[in-house]
Amino acid sequence: MDAVYLDYNASAPMRPQVRDAVIDAMDLPGNPSSVHQAGRAARAVVEVARARVAALVGGDKAGVVFTSGGTEANNLALRAFPGRRVITSLIEHDSVLAARPDALRVGVDSLGRVDPAAIDAMLAELEEAGEAGGGVIVSVMLANNETGVIQPLAEIARVAHARGALVHADAVQAAGRISIDMAALGLDMLSLSAHKLGGPKGVGALVLRPELAPEALVRGGGQELGRRAGTENVAGIAGFGVAAECAREGLVQQAELAVLRDGMEARLRAHAPELVIPGRDAERVANTSTLALPGVAAQTQVMRLDLAGIAVSAGSACSSGKVRRSHVLDAMGFGQDVAGGAIRVSLGWATVANDIERFVAAWCAMRDRLGGARATNADVQMAESG
Ligand code: PLP
Repeated sequence: MDAVYLDYNASAPMRPQVRDAVIDAMDLPGNPSSVHQAGRAARAVVEVARARVAALVGGDKAGVVFTSGGTEANNLALRAFPGRRVITSLIEHDSVLAARPDALRVGVDSLGRVDPAAIDAMLAELEEAGEAGGGVIVSVMLANNETGVIQPLAEIARVAHARGALVHADAVQAAGRISIDMAALGLDMLSLSAHKLGGPKGVGALVLRPELAPEALVRGGGQELGRRAGTENVAGIAGFGVAAECAREGLVQQAELAVLRDGMEARLRAHAPELVIPGRDAERVANTSTLALPGVAAQTQVMRLDLAGIAVSAGSACSSGKVRRSHVLDAMGFGQDVAGGAIRVSLGWATVANDIERFVAAWCAMRDRLGGARATNADVQMAESG
């Protein structure tokens, strides 16, 4: 039997249409900067993709800067405007937190939501301290990668703009899951990653208002209007464009995913009253669920489920394969019992009802075997060796 893949927030399976587009683009010999016919053919592929990516987020295609992924897009947004201070939140992806270790960070409530008033207060503090003179960037993610909780970006943008700040949103986990209109939200910059949409890994974009002039981090040739040097990843970009278009068309499928996800959570809760679902009462994207079994090590749960043919993550999947306690659940006020026992289940374009059936059966069996709420880490180790 095929494995059940429920780790779309780590990376989504590539859509067949994307694969076709990538393969076709790999046959193009030209460099998009070359003036001959072969170069122009490659350029055309890049520009079609640019328009598709812009359309996914209601952005301007002149403001799309292709990057190597969401990580680079976040770095570009936060480091390409030297002199600007950054205000961000405690629950951001590492690529935001590490891009600007000097950033001020607002906390979240117990449902994982940033309060726009807290951003306003922090902006006021910077002003009063005379530290806002070079400008400020407020960077808050649109949907959290662990809980799926959606942040009040329109309101955040409103308070930030009132104080003259620029607003950036990491929309890597929101794109294709909720409809995004940069202008309506009031966003100046937004980060995307193709592989979360069913596109290829290693390509993404920063979409910004075209009148903004970021300093390139990667310097060399004048590609991407001087905002990111290097010959474009034509095949990756072609796949990204198709993934963006499929994701936009697939927004209607999100309601079905919500039914699958909510039904799954209801069944697990009925089976295991000790189950904690952080952020469940907040507005969330339809595909994401964090499931915490207090006191049962997340890594053990992930391994058990893997043995049962089910792929999920332990909290946030770390790049190195190590599992760290979740900074997101920490910020929401959960203790070690919950934060250390949380796995993330994320659905996507190819998920079907039978995947959820198999997951629910495997999860319930795992929970019964590991002793549910009563299990301590020592019990888990005994169960592992037994
Ligand atoms: N931002 C968020 C919210 C993410 O979940 C991820 C990936 O996990 C990234 C940024 C980084 O994207 P990429 O893998 O394309 O570098």
